[in-house]
Amino acid sequence: MSFETILKQPLNRRGFLGVLGSASVLATMGAARPARAAAARVVVVGGGFGGATAAKYIAQWGGAGVSVTLVEPNARHVSCILSNLVLNDRVNLASLGFGYDRLKQRYGIEVVADRAVGADPVAGKLDLASGIALDFDRLVIAPGIGFDPMPGLDTPEQQMLVPHAWQAGAQTQSLRDQLNAMADGGTVVMSIPKAPYRCPPGPYERACVIADFLKRKKPKSKLVVLDANADIQAEPLMFRNAFTMLYAGRLEYVPNAMVTRVSFEGRRRKAWVSDGVGGEIAWTADVLNVIPRNTAARLAHDLGVVNVNGRWAGVNPLTYESTAAARIHVIGDAQGTGLPKAGHIANSEAKICADAIVRMVNGWPVDDAVRMQSVVANSACFSPITYDTASWLNAVFAYDPATGLMKRVDASFGEAPVRSKENYEHMMKWAARLFDDTFA
Ligand SMILES: Cc1cc2nc3c(=O)[nH]c(=O)nc-3n(C[C@H](O)[C@H](O)[C@H](O)COP(=O)(O)OP(=O)(O)OC[C@H]3O[C@@H](n4cnc5c(N)ncnc54)[C@H](O)[C@@H]3O)c2cc1C
Repeated sequence: MSFETILKQPLNRRGFLGVLGSASVLATMGAARPARAAAARVVVVGGGFGGATAAKYIAQWGGAGVSVTLVEPNARHVSCILSNLVLNDRVNLASLGFGYDRLKQRYGIEVVADRAVGADPVAGKLDLASGIALDFDRLVIAPGIGFDPMPGLDTPEQQMLVPHAWQAGAQTQSLRDQLNAMADGGTVVMSIPKAPYRCPPGPYERACVIADFLKRKKPKSKLVVLDANADIQAEPLMFRNAFTMLYAGRLEYVPNAMVTRVSFEGRRRKAWVSDGVGGEIAWTADVLNVIPRNTAARLAHDLGVVNVNGRWAGVNPLTYESTAAARIHVIGDAQGTGLPKAGHIANSEAKICADAIVRMVNGWPVDDAVRMQSVVANSACFSPITYDTASWLNAVFAYDPATGLMKRVDASFGEAPVRSKENYEHMMKWAARLFDDTFA
């Protein structure tokens, strides 16, 4: 059964989402309060894990006092979560697509199929590519990530030949098809961008999925992992163990290797890496998967809210309101609060932001002192290590008054001691619950 089929089942046949409710949202919504004269207008841009969750909870908690419009150009969001499993055919890409009908029908959200291109926060106007302008009292943007340009990957055709597959969809399918078409004995090269990037364990999980696929289907082949970072960025023990034991002789891990350009040589591709002394080393591949350095999506740059290292949008993590522009809130991977860029975290941030916005538009108190004590975001992440085993990590983040950022609570951090089939089953259940909480 596809994930979307599961979501179509009546609410009472699906269990409640225990762990997903753990974003600290102050459960006073819906209590008897003086109502506003006219519904406040909240526009949410981006129907991924951050935006869809925010739209849903603002509509649910705001009730008749709030009208919610979701702007998203695509009819369906394709989940990056579980998309590495498309590469080894454990999951079908179509099953990771989620439409917006349930958000419309269940919560009365208006969905506008368009792209946001600009905003005037003072006038409260959002400009869409079609030329329409939407009025807002509060604007939430959750546009996800963009990429630094990669020389050699200038055209859409080149980008499809060397896909990043870091936004799920056609590129994911292309990478899967190229891996399947590669002759046994071929070389796959993949790159990992400098942190912070979307999904800290994601590239290492991808390395495991590809290495496992090669081991089973193309045993004479090899995977090279070029990591721009000095070391593995998440679950280092688990992944180092997998790289050096499970995939010994099949997977070569190269730290401090930042790909700076790509070139094509007949059917083969080359990833170029600095040698540290002014020259370059070329890694030749039959299949090349380069993930360029991540930054906030273009919309965040265009709205002028990117003010953290020129890459991410600074926000007050108690409300997710931008530190650069009042009335604009930024959630999900585009934010720069110290939180990891993960779908589970985006879902968690969305609820904190929804709670703050419902309070703000109703004129209810948004008490920083209370929120500093109570705002918590959490993340669970599962990573497939082989065809049927997985690992997990679990982290809680709390507000740090010293920096105004979110900081990991070390006492609440945990990682799977071993990979297991049971973890793999939990991964599928966890993902189904997250999809449900976001899109249904
Ligand atoms: C391979 C892979 C595996 C992953 N695995 C996990 C995992 O196991 N667990 C986990 O928690 N996270 C995982 N992630 C990370 C997760 O997918 C992201 O953190 C999450 O998608 C971020 O949500 P978001 O809402 O910020 O952006 P997205 O989900 O990317 O959504 C952004 C949306 O905004 C829309 N948009 C962009 N610009 C505009 C515009 N101008 N106007 C209108 N709409 C716009 C886009 O069309 C898109 O639908 C994984 C990522 C990858 C790549």
